[in-house]
Amino acid sequence: MNDTVKYVLDESRIPKHWYNIVADLPAPPAAVLHPGTRQPIGPGDLAPLFPMELILQEVSQEREIEIPGPVRAVYRQWRPSPLFRARRLEQALGTPARIYYKYEGVSPAGSHKPNTAVAQAFYNKEAGVKRLTTETGAGQWGSSLAFAGQVFGLEVKVFMVRVSYDQKPYRRALMETYGARCVPSPSPETRSGQAILAQRADHPGSLGIAISEAVEVAATDDDAKYALGSVLNHVLMHQTIIGQEAIAQLEMADDYPDVVIGCAGGGSNFAGIAFPFIGAKLRGGPGVRVIAVEPAACPTLTRGRYAYDFGDTGHLTPLVKMHTLGSGFTPPGFHAGGLRYHGMAPLVSHCLDLGLMEARAYRQNEVFAAGVQFARAEGIVPAPEANHAVKCAIDEALACKSEGRARTILFNLSGHGHFDMQAYTDFFSGSLQDQAYDEEELETALAALPVAT
Ligand SMILES: *Cc1c(COP(=O)(O)O)cnc(C)c1O
Repeated sequence: MNDTVKYVLDESRIPKHWYNIVADLPAPPAAVLHPGTRQPIGPGDLAPLFPMELILQEVSQEREIEIPGPVRAVYRQWRPSPLFRARRLEQALGTPARIYYKYEGVSPAGSHKPNTAVAQAFYNKEAGVKRLTTETGAGQWGSSLAFAGQVFGLEVKVFMVRVSYDQKPYRRALMETYGARCVPSPSPETRSGQAILAQRADHPGSLGIAISEAVEVAATDDDAKYALGSVLNHVLMHQTIIGQEAIAQLEMADDYPDVVIGCAGGGSNFAGIAFPFIGAKLRGGPGVRVIAVEPAACPTLTRGRYAYDFGDTGHLTPLVKMHTLGSGFTPPGFHAGGLRYHGMAPLVSHCLDLGLMEARAYRQNEVFAAGVQFARAEGIVPAPEANHAVKCAIDEALACKSEGRARTILFNLSGHGHFDMQAYTDFFSGSLQDQAYDEEELETALAALPVAT
């Protein structure tokens, strides 16, 4: 069998639909609540922030939603993304396991995020929107939306978490190259930002704060809407193109995974690779273990509470039921900036609660060691976020070795690390710290969780 299961420029191989796991779940997800009334919200409540097509996708029960032609036309530039068999890594580990990885680093922005950025920019343009506002952690989402905005002729303004803004100047340069404006958050440009800066002038920022700023700007400008890079149902759905392609590609290799792995920040790339497999199982297909991997310094799924919480720090968003560390929680400034979110996609939390998946947390140094081992075997340097999935895949392969059992392991390599080399430099110099989160702050943040009903 060919080691690279890849088909190039064959449009017929790009899935024609996104997959909506809600149609197959044994129990419906919890209702989304209005932040003021604490009653379930309707589509109209979200209209100031999102175009109606995306709101309808957010609440859809349909199993399949057709991918519009203009979105497929942009996808064609890098989709289907390659599925590789990690033969040299298998050899280096001496494992009987077959390890495959789906590589999303081939998109223009270098991660899976353009899969939804392109779709969101398209629907906003169709609805007559002129400007998009958003937040970004490590800069992956901001650069993806900047790219998509440029493709469809939309202005893009990005609030970038301060610690990443300082750590990753090249991501900002990339956003500006694509024509977006990038502001460090907390910023003095919004009330939410001003309130945080008044408490602490050198605040490192968080995704929760940046979301408040972007939502505030969108809600007060008629020509602007807000775009979120993860967490929401429609975002996860756009990412399911990853898992659907993987199923088709593995079929060409005459294989099917026993284990499917993805790193989880807000949960979108994990859901993208995993939901089509969970759905197949729910519809009577083969059994599969599914593992979400997160940083021990921001342990949302493994240490958080499954409860109603705000999506942002300024409490402008609706209340959603999810695993959360509390919207007031600020994770320490570790390098996998894309995994520094206090909450989790409600659909991923629901799947964990239903026992359809597992979650695991790793520390920063062991994660980078795995990333370096992967890069030395396979040649691709993973993004720090993706290293969490790499570490888990290696551990699973080593478990196969010690049990003397061959299993098929599939993981999502969500992006490349070419803009994250400072993190690798820090790892090599031994200055990367395994930061623990502040237990006291976590307790305080959890104690402040809103009471839902
Ligand atoms: C943003 C990002 C993540 C985390 O976001 P999810 O929504 O959990 O997927 C993971 N990997 C990369 C490369 C990212 O850019």
